[in-house]
Amino acid sequence: MKVGKILKVSGPLVVAEGMDEANVYDVVEVSDNKLIGEIIEMREDRASIQVYEETAGIGPGENVYTTGAPLSVELGPGLIEAMFDGIQRPLDILEAKAGNYLVRGIHADALDREKKWDFKPTVNVGDELTEGDIIGTVQETEVIEHRIMLPPGVSGKVKEIKSGEYTVVDTVCVIETDSGDKDVMMMQKWPVRMGRPYKEKLDPETPLITGQRVIDTFFPVAKGGTAAIPGPFGSGKTVVQHQLAKWADAEVVVYVGCGERGNEMTDVLMEFPELEDPKTGASLMKRTVLIANTSNMPVAAREASIYTGLTIGEYFRDMGYSVAMMADSTSRWAEALREMSGRLEEMPGDEGYPAYLASRVAAYYERAGKVICNGSSDREGALSVIGAVSPPGGDISEPVSQATLRNVKVFWSLDYALSYARHFPAINWLNSYSLYQAKIDAYVDENVDPKFADQRKRAMSLLQEESSLQEIVRLVGRDTLSQGDQLKLEVAKSLREDFLQQNAFHDVDTYCSMEKQFKMMEVILAYQDLGNEALAEGVLVNDMMVLPVMDRISRMKEIPEEKISEIDDVKKELEEQIRALIEKGGSLDA
Ligand code: ADP
Ligand code: MG
Repeated sequence: MKVGKILKVSGPLVVAEGMDEANVYDVVEVSDNKLIGEIIEMREDRASIQVYEETAGIGPGENVYTTGAPLSVELGPGLIEAMFDGIQRPLDILEAKAGNYLVRGIHADALDREKKWDFKPTVNVGDELTEGDIIGTVQETEVIEHRIMLPPGVSGKVKEIKSGEYTVVDTVCVIETDSGDKDVMMMQKWPVRMGRPYKEKLDPETPLITGQRVIDTFFPVAKGGTAAIPGPFGSGKTVVQHQLAKWADAEVVVYVGCGERGNEMTDVLMEFPELEDPKTGASLMKRTVLIANTSNMPVAAREASIYTGLTIGEYFRDMGYSVAMMADSTSRWAEALREMSGRLEEMPGDEGYPAYLASRVAAYYERAGKVICNGSSDREGALSVIGAVSPPGGDISEPVSQATLRNVKVFWSLDYALSYARHFPAINWLNSYSLYQAKIDAYVDENVDPKFADQRKRAMSLLQEESSLQEIVRLVGRDTLSQGDQLKLEVAKSLREDFLQQNAFHDVDTYCSMEKQFKMMEVILAYQDLGNEALAEGVLVNDMMVLPVMDRISRMKEIPEEKISEIDDVKKELEEQIRALIEKGGSLDA
């Protein structure tokens, strides 16, 4: 191991000389405390090192040891249900070794070396395999079958294949390659800053169904797609990310938390294990990997955590799974970049962020996608990436929001005014967008109801019309509007309150199937159609507004999925009551 010497220490940045054998992105150990760091810049024999631990008390002259290897993650059975820090150290081991104290230089294996897994081979001696081929499976949790793949770069004929209980570092397969026999174990490693290889990228076109009405109906994200959710403090970014982690129909979830508030990550760590997976009834953790940067961890670790999460996500994608990765919030990651850049005395760009911010953000979202995985089976996998952004003051003209919006295909615009008015999720329906809409329209029409996309378009134009009508109402009052326009306002109000608003903390309303979303929308739009018929017969909007069925419409969201046909009853009741109004020629109790 080559030894360099520290020249200077500036917070998380350490500059060392005598490092001529090291390379950018190599992991190093700083001082005899062995603090973990990564080289982020090399100038001749001088290395600038980003240190992932507290550097107080470390000074010039101390040793720096190079490991000659880039920052990598361990991939294999044991990832699911794990909780890691930004450089994949298991939180429980960190805690056991350090308690609540900050002890530095703790090296902990990401994957348990002792634990045995039941390896079931899926290949035979003599089979010709290529990189990415699945050689066997391990039932990692009740819900996740971990597929053991030949690591990138390994191809050849199976010489030996095992079956039974093995640890992640035992040899389970021997492959005869062009360059000799190669022992394959269940664990593989991959450098975090490099995307894992795949055969081909495909166009994302099936929706990642989230059970959140405003998202699925109006601003859907595709499996393998990208979305950003910028919003000011308290507008609901974390709640939306949690809802996605709980409900999105992804097979594996990777949740990267860069805690904004001190106890926010602690909440996640406490709350997630208790949550039940609605699809399996098992704990949500049975399909989840958590990466947590608690607030007492140095900023640099946040920078790495995003890549650790992406790499783990890609690994499960390679098995053929649909994976969703949430990052909350990427602004904390960008701030870590800014801090390091400042300490490196680089030329600052916009608001002090380095000029390469935009390309880093682009490279990060570029790792999302639906792909044909390596291997001879041509299985498909998808990694969807959803990033929260917390622009200071909620102003998205700042660099991180702007760089993000240039690279994602879905924008959920959180609005302070809406959250203040307790309209949740506070996603503004007038300026959010989804560039997957056209593809997903085709999907929902075929798989949910042939009228789904038409209804969605009609509802959206009503909401847009509402906003211009409201302008008139503000200026000259509601009574000057025609009855038809007043009806539009009523229907739009129902769309906002009875459809768009969705309570994440309500037992039933927290999740809404596509079928239920369709039916709810159908009732609200029927109000407009029937209402217009009634207006033609001389009925007034004021009389319709007070019909008893309106209360049932407002409580459709509370109808459980298994009683979804009750929504059809609401529609019948609406029809009956409006017809009755028409017959009476006005108010029901007149
Ligand atoms: P941010 O992460 O943007 O700072 P949070 O996600 O923590 O904001 O949300 C702040 C608060 O807003 C939550 O504690 C909750 O009370 C409320 N809230 C946000 N979204 C919803 C929702 N969908 N349903 C109900 N309440 C919500
Ligand atoms: Mg938050």
